[in-house]
Amino acid sequence: MENICYFRPKWVGSPVTNNEKTTPKVNERRGKNSKKKGEVDPVEVYCRVRPLDNPNDSCCVKPLSTTVVQLIPPENSLAVARNGQIKEYQFTFQYIFDEYTSQKAVFDYVACPLVDDLIKGKNGLLFTYGITSSGKTYTMTGTPKDQGILPRCLDVLFNSISGVQAKKYVFKSDKMNGFEVQSEADAMIERQKRDIMPGITTPKTPTANRRGNFGDQERISDPTILTSVDDDNQYAVFVSYIEIYNNYVYDLLEELPYDPITGYKPPQTKILRTDSSDCMYVMNCVEVEITSPEEAFEVLFKGQKRRKVAHTALNAESSRSHSIFNIRLVQAPLDPRGEEVLQDPDKICVSQLSLVDLAGSERTHRTKNAGDRLKEAGNINQSLMALRNCIEILRENQKNNSNKMVPYRDSKLTHLFKNYFDGEGKVRMVVCVNPKGEEFDETIVRFLI
Ligand code: ADP
Ligand code: MG
Repeated sequence: MENICYFRPKWVGSPVTNNEKTTPKVNERRGKNSKKKGEVDPVEVYCRVRPLDNPNDSCCVKPLSTTVVQLIPPENSLAVARNGQIKEYQFTFQYIFDEYTSQKAVFDYVACPLVDDLIKGKNGLLFTYGITSSGKTYTMTGTPKDQGILPRCLDVLFNSISGVQAKKYVFKSDKMNGFEVQSEADAMIERQKRDIMPGITTPKTPTANRRGNFGDQERISDPTILTSVDDDNQYAVFVSYIEIYNNYVYDLLEELPYDPITGYKPPQTKILRTDSSDCMYVMNCVEVEITSPEEAFEVLFKGQKRRKVAHTALNAESSRSHSIFNIRLVQAPLDPRGEEVLQDPDKICVSQLSLVDLAGSERTHRTKNAGDRLKEAGNINQSLMALRNCIEILRENQKNNSNKMVPYRDSKLTHLFKNYFDGEGKVRMVVCVNPKGEEFDETIVRFLI
């Protein structure tokens, strides 16, 4: 027993309270604004263990149950005591997905309830966390044939609002993080105008994509339909795509400044603002209205291309940036005749689901950073550290019913999600783990610090 180290993990797995334990129910209707004063949405931390690349590789991770995982250091690990005794570490999570868990199961359990919340007018925030090559991007994006969380969220959202989708441009941004309603006639004029002169804000959907493609490949979409839509409402979907790199915020959907001689210039940094309802947002960030998952993928790919170009211009490395894909759902009731969306700003409800593929959580020396890279790695670790601190304090507050200040101002990443740390909206994190023995030290260091 002595050489087994039982951890109440600092942040990845505090004890599960009763109200957190309930299995997510897809169609449970909890009306808007039904939250009691002082009631906060729970933070839930899940673990996903990816398969080994080579089944003969040594493995340092063993799920013991659906909530407890054991990490066993390989002999050459720093964690092996001088006398050669091997310590075993155990961590508790909300739920542990082993290497056999499908993309669909992870989505159904972790993300689908957040789509349901989105439709019910509530906010959600989902992170994938882990060292490079632990499966963060696989879990978030996946492949066309085996889609990850992000494309499935879009599929399920559009499956569900089909039939109650507002015509394009009926909902219009007020440029201050809010929306207004314009008449069907004005929306039609705008549609005609923008169809003739398409710009960045109106991604053209090539016909091939309408058949359900994901880039160049055919994709298998998620068939789930949620029944939480309100048939008296009309719905519109807007997406934005941002990146936080070196503690600076960039808009991945903004045209990059181009110089015919020197090529693309580094992108401009963006600032965070608070709107009239005290919600954080990225000022002057491009937000695109989309009417299908395929249109959203167009936007996503455009952003990913930009990201590559911008990283070259900035001499940056992808694994060191956080990428954030925001889905905003705007809904408002129809007028009493059931013909047009009611032009009453007080009746508009906006909810948001932010999907965050975090930077690799490895230590700096591993990637042999030098000079600027060190600074950049420092910032990344700092922002991940800030995120961890915030989540830890938020959980502590929930557990003890305390009101300790969550230090969200410590980084742009946490500042952007201030509202969640104030307890508005569910926060979920999938900690991705590569079970390869060699990765033990990097994995454990991120669990323990
Ligand atoms: P990260 O984004 O954390 O750096 P990736 O998501 O790119 O890591 O995963 C690294 C590699 O492992 C990719 O080739 C990916 O396809 C594969 N992979 C990750 N998780 C899984 C999984 N659960 N099942 C199958 N392959 C996976
Ligand atoms: Mg990745």
